[in-house]
Amino acid sequence: MNDTTKPRAPRAFPLSLERLGPVGKPAAAPAPPGATVLRPQRPLHQAVQDRARAAAPAGLGLDSEPVRQRMVQKLRAAGVRDEQVLAAMARVPRHLFVDTALATQAYEDTSLPIGLQQTISKPSVVARMLELLRGGRGEQPLPRILEIGTGCGYQAAVLALLGRQVISVERLKPLHEKARGLLRSMRVDNLRLVYGDGMLGHGPNAPYDGIVSAAGGDAIPQAWLDQLAVGGRLVAPVVRGSGQVIVLVERSESGFVRSEHEAVHFVPLKSGTT
Ligand code: SAH
Repeated sequence: MNDTTKPRAPRAFPLSLERLGPVGKPAAAPAPPGATVLRPQRPLHQAVQDRARAAAPAGLGLDSEPVRQRMVQKLRAAGVRDEQVLAAMARVPRHLFVDTALATQAYEDTSLPIGLQQTISKPSVVARMLELLRGGRGEQPLPRILEIGTGCGYQAAVLALLGRQVISVERLKPLHEKARGLLRSMRVDNLRLVYGDGMLGHGPNAPYDGIVSAAGGDAIPQAWLDQLAVGGRLVAPVVRGSGQVIVLVERSESGFVRSEHEAVHFVPLKSGTT
């Protein structure tokens, strides 16, 4: 698409994922009489639809919501059981997180390039990781979540609907800054993006009830285990032979229980920042 003939829609439409509260929770209590209500928001689905209309390239259709619903139906048919995860994925406009030229593929079950040799994970893998992270906790949001590997920020936005507070760390500055700009325009207020080496976790906000990595290393860094709360769950791809598997670590009073799940293919976990 030629930007001079068809300008991209501005990404500044107020879109609050947070204001509705975590998925499955009742709306926030009404403000007491006399209180000043700051920044009243239109319902999320209206805001999403308006933005999607403005931003969708020809071919995606005017309204991305039905496309997203179809994606969720396919995920459910493929065995994803956690309705909170499905509801969150039904609400986050995935096509806004990828390059305009790739937006028509945003709701297919495929990973897509996001620049700097990194990829946004395919929806079925995001759903599986988050289902394992939540561990069937019904409508209860996770109090505090750490994500390693913000990338384009898509999974971070989904996590913001599943947790009360989310910290997401990215080691590549251009990706961190791009995600920050987009998520700021969406006013995802319960999400903090950190530029840094996620192999060290993020000490200042530890411990975390959930830790999820979007990059796979040879082993789970000790810092992540140290920063996992008792009762918390950690989900990460780990190298196994010539591939990777999803590893789940559950921490209890008596220690760590580790289980291995399906084979996956994530980008490598690297130390340091760039
Ligand atoms: N959740 C992301 C997936 C991005 S791919 C999304 O929805 O788009 C994984 C990301 O992990 C890449 O952006 C990569 O730069 C990042 N990464 C790899 N090692 C890292 C580290 N040590 N600390 C922080 N981020 C890391």
